[in-house]
Amino acid sequence: MNQNQLFKLTRWRLALWYTGIMGVILSLCGFGLYEAIAHAHWVALNEELKSVAGTLHDSMEPTLKQPGKIETATKRLLPELCLAETDCLQKITTSSKQRHVLGALHQGDYYINLQDVSGKSVAIAGFPILTNQRYQKITLSLHTKDNRDWGNLIVERSLKDYDDYLAATRLILFLGLPFSMLLVGGASLWLAARAMQPVYTSYEQMQQFTADAAHELRTPLAAIQATVESALRSNQLSDVQARDILTRVERQNQRLSQLVKDLLLLSRMDQQALPLKYQECYLDDLVSDIAEEFAALAIAAEVQLKTEIRQEKIKVLGDEEQLYRLLSNLVVNAIQYTLAGGEVKIILDSNKHHAIIQVEDTGLGIAPEHQTQIFTRFWRVNSDRSRHTGGSGLGLPIANAIAIAHQGTLEVNSSLNKGSIFTLRLPY
Ligand code: ADP
Repeated sequence: MNQNQLFKLTRWRLALWYTGIMGVILSLCGFGLYEAIAHAHWVALNEELKSVAGTLHDSMEPTLKQPGKIETATKRLLPELCLAETDCLQKITTSSKQRHVLGALHQGDYYINLQDVSGKSVAIAGFPILTNQRYQKITLSLHTKDNRDWGNLIVERSLKDYDDYLAATRLILFLGLPFSMLLVGGASLWLAARAMQPVYTSYEQMQQFTADAAHELRTPLAAIQATVESALRSNQLSDVQARDILTRVERQNQRLSQLVKDLLLLSRMDQQALPLKYQECYLDDLVSDIAEEFAALAIAAEVQLKTEIRQEKIKVLGDEEQLYRLLSNLVVNAIQYTLAGGEVKIILDSNKHHAIIQVEDTGLGIAPEHQTQIFTRFWRVNSDRSRHTGGSGLGLPIANAIAIAHQGTLEVNSSLNKGSIFTLRLPY
């Protein structure tokens, strides 16, 4: 396939399209996944913050007596609490190494600020969040036991771990995408080659077919040309010579028209454009007609032509004309490829689901390595041998196409120099 520029180019184009489309799909999936992860973490983080703030609020409020004043009970609840009038506030803001996590909260990166009603910081806990860091904040108002406004509880949570996690996810996705694209690209090339292989095979067959058809048409055309040229060269032609020339031209012409007819038939069958006239066909009548028709040919070839009707009145639904053509192709071949003194037998039988016609000969036979090819158009075991009989290598392909059009099968079983059996099975 790679030798053919058109197929090579199409394969790469297909692979590129596939890779591009897969790239877009993968990017969208990656983006969706990222958004889902980010959202899930964001929700969890907010829930956690709410729960921490809520727990602190609920446990602190019963300990508060005077607005803006931290009680011993509150300190006991939050030992890390650092009052504004002490110097621990200063210590916390300056020593970055001392950063600690609120033991009571079991989570890192929290900063708690207790402000009185005027907004003045009364106490803090945790480590203040750096100015360049993102954070999420919750403010809850605090009340004393006797329901006076105490101030506010502000809980801040740094988003550093959240941002770090998302950055790592983004990095994995960004690095993973080109790597996946490489894999997808390789797979696409391979897939494109696989998908195009049948098309390429049929393209090659078509090319071969065209070349073979041209070759077959050229032979009679060249013969006609040569005959006409030699006639034109001679000054005077006797009646006998003229008749001989015309006979030769007519013979070649017949060969040409037969070839064209066969080609047309095959191409119509390929396109399923050949209207088959389905009717009930009695196969014993068909076999008898064929035997009668080719009796003279068999006598001329000194071959015995016999029929064996094992079951009478077998009928199938089919196109009689085409079935006749199929069978006559098989019988003519059997007679032609059987030496004088040999025998050709047409057997009609049936099984549960099929009518079976066998054309059996004691002729030249076909070597096992050739048996798979005999249904290929223009293929001949030995072109000289076939051309001598006037064959063009289309007889069996036509027979096979007719069998297929009738949902039947045509098989060969042959031994070299012993004979061949062609078996046609047609559904009832
Ligand atoms: P052709 O018209 O050349 O006979 P066919 O398609 O009918 O072409 O047959 C294809 C090839 O199969 C021929 O080359 C022929 O040699 C071989 N063949 C067909 N039938 C027989 C047979 N009964 N015995 C031996 N060879 C056969």
